[in-house]
Amino acid sequence: MYILDLTRELYNAALQERRDAWRKAGKSVALYEQMRLLGEVKAARPEYREVYAQVLQETLKRLDRAFQGFFSRLKRGEKPGYPRFKGRGWWDSFTFPQVVRGGCWVGPGKPLGNGKVKVPGVGHVRMKQHRPLEGVPKTFSIKRSAGCWYAVYVCEVQVQPLPPSENAVGIDLGLSHFVATSEGETFAPPKAYRKAEARLKRTQRSLSKKRRASNRRRKLKERLARQHRKVANQRRDFHHKLARKLVNQYGTIVHEDLNTSGLARSRLAKGVLDAGWASFISILSAKAASAGRRVVAVRPHGTSQICPECGSIRKKELSERIHACGCGCVLDRDVAAAKVILALGLDGALGDGQRVAASA
Ligand SMILES: [Zn+2]
Repeated sequence: MYILDLTRELYNAALQERRDAWRKAGKSVALYEQMRLLGEVKAARPEYREVYAQVLQETLKRLDRAFQGFFSRLKRGEKPGYPRFKGRGWWDSFTFPQVVRGGCWVGPGKPLGNGKVKVPGVGHVRMKQHRPLEGVPKTFSIKRSAGCWYAVYVCEVQVQPLPPSENAVGIDLGLSHFVATSEGETFAPPKAYRKAEARLKRTQRSLSKKRRASNRRRKLKERLARQHRKVANQRRDFHHKLARKLVNQYGTIVHEDLNTSGLARSRLAKGVLDAGWASFISILSAKAASAGRRVVAVRPHGTSQICPECGSIRKKELSERIHACGCGCVLDRDVAAAKVILALGLDGALGDGQRVAASA
């Protein structure tokens, strides 16, 4: 899109100006100085007049943020990279700031209700809305990804605390169930998602058999990108719905700390990454925070080997799906793990008060 090229050019020119000023005169150029020059740019290059003024300002602010990040990392003693010029492949969005003021929609991006949205400089664009907008829209961006255009709204959501809840739950993240809870519930990704994922794998395989630089290969690559996007959308949707359900139901949610879990580094890594636990946990944490509910991470060591009833160690192979302990406790293996996780998150006490040997 034309606007992408113009904003990218502006970004690079503004970066050049800052570099030159620093190298030749040892001076730094402030954001407001560059903003003032926008008028000159428009006089010299009339095509810039057709771009929404705030989009141009936002482009300069983006560069300014890059510099601020650069300087604050320098201050912290890190070795940051100097802000870079953006090539074609590294510039895929532009932003309309301030779309709503005082509760009224003053900027562009208001959904027109007929499945369209008006984008200044572009016209009426068809839009498939995935979720209703929550909260107050702050910015409206147009983003290109895998050959499609997206409208992205950043909204400010008021914290809406849910009534306090004494209910606590432990969740075990796994490959056989995506989530198993200490209450015995299990959640798997929807069928449509699994089907799309299988399709994606098939496309990937046949791509590897096509000749390099052939027409068929190019077409297949485009299809692959579309399928990737679809799978990613379905996965995100599943994560949002599951997180919403858990946050509504429980006041405290305890999960394994993914950073310290060995799983991500093991041979399961591929499956783990596909399952997208980290992105689920971040969605869950955000929803919990805005509802005033608690998410607790615990060190996961040995959680799948401890009996939640008696606290003894019951070693299991990965293929063993059932936890069956000498004390008479028989549970789905992941549900048992979720119960141990909950106990660790609350106070470390299991069943009738025995302590968990957390490093077992
Ligand atoms: Zn037991």
